[in-house]
Amino acid sequence: MEKIDTVVVGAGQAGVAMSEHLTGHGIPHVVLERDRIAERWRTGRWDSLVANGPAWHDRFPNMEFDCDGDAFADKESVAAYFEAYAKRFDAPIRTGVEVKSVTPGDGGFLLETSDGRIEANNVVAATGPFQKPAIPPVIPADAAPLQMHSNAYRNPAQLPDGAVLVVGGGSSGVQIAEELMKAGRRVYISIGPHDRPPRRYRQRDNVWWLGVLGKWAANTPGPGAEHVTIAVSGAEGGKTIDFRRLAQQGMTLLGMTAGYDEGKVTFADDLRTNLIAGDRNYLSVLDEADAYIAKHGLDLPPEPEARYIPEDPDCVTNPVLELDLEEAGIGTILWATGYQFDFGWIRADTFDDRGRPLHERGVSREPGLYFVGLPWQSHRGSSFIWGVWHDAKFIADQIAIQNGYRAYEGQAAIRMPQAV
Ligand SMILES: Cc1cc2nc3c(=O)[nH]c(=O)nc-3n(C[C@H](O)[C@H](O)[C@H](O)COP(=O)(O)OP(=O)(O)OC[C@H]3O[C@@H](n4cnc5c(N)ncnc54)[C@H](O)[C@@H]3O)c2cc1C
Repeated sequence: MEKIDTVVVGAGQAGVAMSEHLTGHGIPHVVLERDRIAERWRTGRWDSLVANGPAWHDRFPNMEFDCDGDAFADKESVAAYFEAYAKRFDAPIRTGVEVKSVTPGDGGFLLETSDGRIEANNVVAATGPFQKPAIPPVIPADAAPLQMHSNAYRNPAQLPDGAVLVVGGGSSGVQIAEELMKAGRRVYISIGPHDRPPRRYRQRDNVWWLGVLGKWAANTPGPGAEHVTIAVSGAEGGKTIDFRRLAQQGMTLLGMTAGYDEGKVTFADDLRTNLIAGDRNYLSVLDEADAYIAKHGLDLPPEPEARYIPEDPDCVTNPVLELDLEEAGIGTILWATGYQFDFGWIRADTFDDRGRPLHERGVSREPGLYFVGLPWQSHRGSSFIWGVWHDAKFIADQIAIQNGYRAYEGQAAIRMPQAV
């Protein structure tokens, strides 16, 4: 049976970053990837997706994107970036190998893979922050000609004729909804609590403001904000998400999807509340940015027009609380409702009753088992391209430290008899 010090599972950005840092420590390792490097960027997203941060920021520190730094790289370029990055240090990535199970044993782990068994001292799960599509059980499967999760959406032509009900107003939902509307579809979008930071304000991108205002570094979502999604996009060169503007262009905004009864979907009467909370978040970023500029005496021109909030459109003042799917001609219900974990293949006692990893900054309760790339693993940036690199460094350091202890025990065992 093959034996190796460390196995990293998954070769997305998290796995590539892990491999770089393990290589830096000289730790023998292999990265097992069931598909190809950065497969989720290649085929697990819709065709027109671009990064939601500019290229100067959404990258690893040691390599720039091959495009204008202020541009938003398309998904193919992001995948190509990680492939090229892995080549730079000859990352030991084996593609087409799926890890079926990881079982802790005496002082190590047994991995069953599609290519045989491996024994390892350490295992790092780098299988992504967004693993299994989550669809709330609200609407029966046969209620519309097609129901799909955003992870299966590719482009408007893929959907049957008719209107589309998009459930979810986060980054995925709002971008897909706008693309469908521009392709000539009638679009309804069900919106819950959300933040919608300005794309740019006073000549600086949102990622810059998150950085200087210390928000990337936050280690937990603000109190009560755990279920607040973020609507942000790099599409069309990057622009602030403004739901009222989308309504002016023909999209129908709805509150949270609440239930279903005999062909009719019902919505909570919370649309206006959710929009106002989104505005409050938007304006609070402008306030904090203004205060930062004043405090640091920066020469960044004022932008008072950014504070303009359009009037409420009719669908906000007279909200639709019930939608007859047939009457509205809904051909597709598209669930942009996020993801859940899928760690069933790890047979270790380090998960809560909902299958979420129990860990401290990615160090699990099972010695030798680590996670990297989890949302909020150590900070807001953890599941983003730039942030995962730093978390991977921390995890590689922990593995090196533990390997150091292991090595010392060996030396002590040899020296002990001499002392006696
Ligand atoms: C629509 C969308 C847009 C996003 N846009 C951005 C953005 O613009 N900027 C940004 O910074 N972040 C963005 N993110 C967040 C994040 O950067 C991506 O989700 C990214 O793909 C996460 O990288 P990862 O390496 O942690 O996981 P993944 O990319 O999901 O990689 C995990 C890998 O593990 C493999 N794998 C899983 N299970 C096994 C197994 N059992 N055996 C072997 N291999 C396995 C998978 O095949 C996959 O290749 C976006 C996320 C989504 C959903």
